[in-house]
Amino acid sequence: MTRVGIVGGGVSGLMAAWELSELGFEVELFEAAPVLGGLASSFDFDGFRIERFYHFICRTDETLIRTIDRLGLHDRLHWKQTRTGFFYEGRHFPFSHGLDVLRFSPLSWPEKLRFAWGVYRASRMTDWHSLEGQPAKQWLIDTLGPKAYEVVWDPLLRIKFDRYHDDISAAWMWHRIHRVARSRTSPFAGERFGYLEGGSDLLVGTLSEKTKANGGKIHLSTRVEAIAAEGNRCTGLRVGGEFREFDAVICALPLTLVPQLLPEGAPEYRSALEKLESIGVVCMILRLRHPLTKDFWLNVNDQRISFNGVIQYSHLNDDPRLEGRTIAYIPFYLDRGHPRFQYSDELLYDEYCAALSILNPDFDRGWVEGYRVFRAPHAQPICGLDFSDRVPRIRTPWDHLYMIESTQLYPADRIISGNLRLAQDAVTIALGEMGYSGRLPFPERDPSDIPA
Ligand SMILES: Cc1cc2nc3c(=O)[nH]c(=O)nc-3n(C[C@H](O)[C@H](O)[C@H](O)COP(=O)(O)OP(=O)(O)OC[C@H]3O[C@@H](n4cnc5c(N)ncnc54)[C@H](O)[C@@H]3O)c2cc1C
Repeated sequence: MTRVGIVGGGVSGLMAAWELSELGFEVELFEAAPVLGGLASSFDFDGFRIERFYHFICRTDETLIRTIDRLGLHDRLHWKQTRTGFFYEGRHFPFSHGLDVLRFSPLSWPEKLRFAWGVYRASRMTDWHSLEGQPAKQWLIDTLGPKAYEVVWDPLLRIKFDRYHDDISAAWMWHRIHRVARSRTSPFAGERFGYLEGGSDLLVGTLSEKTKANGGKIHLSTRVEAIAAEGNRCTGLRVGGEFREFDAVICALPLTLVPQLLPEGAPEYRSALEKLESIGVVCMILRLRHPLTKDFWLNVNDQRISFNGVIQYSHLNDDPRLEGRTIAYIPFYLDRGHPRFQYSDELLYDEYCAALSILNPDFDRGWVEGYRVFRAPHAQPICGLDFSDRVPRIRTPWDHLYMIESTQLYPADRIISGNLRLAQDAVTIALGEMGYSGRLPFPERDPSDIPA
């Protein structure tokens, strides 16, 4: 029987493992952490299991929605109209749809109309290739106007890309606007987002259970030390100092971690991977007695506040076990070498409590029932100018070694749905090269769309 080794137990690795196990292949997955899920993993928040980082689903997340169906979880997927707000220099504004933009007083009427028209045009655009060579900043200024850029988009770019915010390609930015705008049924309706009852934990747990039920093996707290090859053929993995033979290997790690695992050879490929950059995230999650505002997503642009957004996840997924409490996430993307990445939890908590009192003057520390801080060093790939040429492919210089990672979703942002699709793409390519000719249980993509 054909044996496939999978490195990484985030949603990408788990999806590849499940798909292969469904087709009767023998799979073995290795995850370095003691829990599965990677960026989509969950923890026990004083008796309430919830994801370390917030996840919402968009109407365009087709592969995720189809996978939820295939896993028999369709009755656990719910959709909800949510509110977006904007806190700008001490004032709160609703910011959910076109009418809110027209009422947004920090912009003059011509600025608002230009902004609304620019977002509408970007959401209708489909060919992004002409944007590849343009920096997002200049494109946003040209499309939406300089004031709208300064007030609305500059903080959004900074929240996500820290010191790289000037380097991001307009194609990436366009996709981001496009994805969220398509979650509205009309320019005058708010976003409608989806969530899984039980959160991402349900997806992660079900993929893992079904893989195991199919005979797949999943090893936790088991770091892969190296990928083995003879000449240009991948032969297996080194785990716990021992060689484990596999007919094929799918590597589903952040690309920045891959070069150190690669076999000897292919110096150009290795150095191309080494040039790819990513940033980390420090994210605080708080359980509050009361909501801060009515917004699911609150953008923040205020000189006194260090972070640029608060996501009140319970306004989307108001799990009855919360009994009306609010779960709020405060993400802060930054270079993992930045001193702030190592700030103590207590220091961040003090700083954020002071900021929350600015966002809502009624807030006091008595509202906080608990908080945690999570740090992920490889949370967001940096997609610079003309990035298409640098996107690594699923096939590698070694036969039977395949690579999947969020960078391959470019110009799209890294999202679970995209990761699941990449896993299916890798399975399609691997099976083709292993001579498998049976039917696949998922729709095959147009080969020109696959970063093969
Ligand atoms: C703050 C934040 C918010 C997000 N919000 C959303 C959202 O709203 N919607 C959405 O769809 N997506 C969202 N995402 C993105 C989503 O979480 C990721 O796209 C997805 O989880 C990536 O999965 P992955 O399996 O490709 O990678 P990862 O989750 O990074 O998994 C890689 C795994 O490999 C393991 N590993 C590393 N080295 C080794 C080794 N040597 N041996 C074995 N295992 C190893 C790691 O421990 C990890 O578990 C968000 C991400 C963040 C950080």
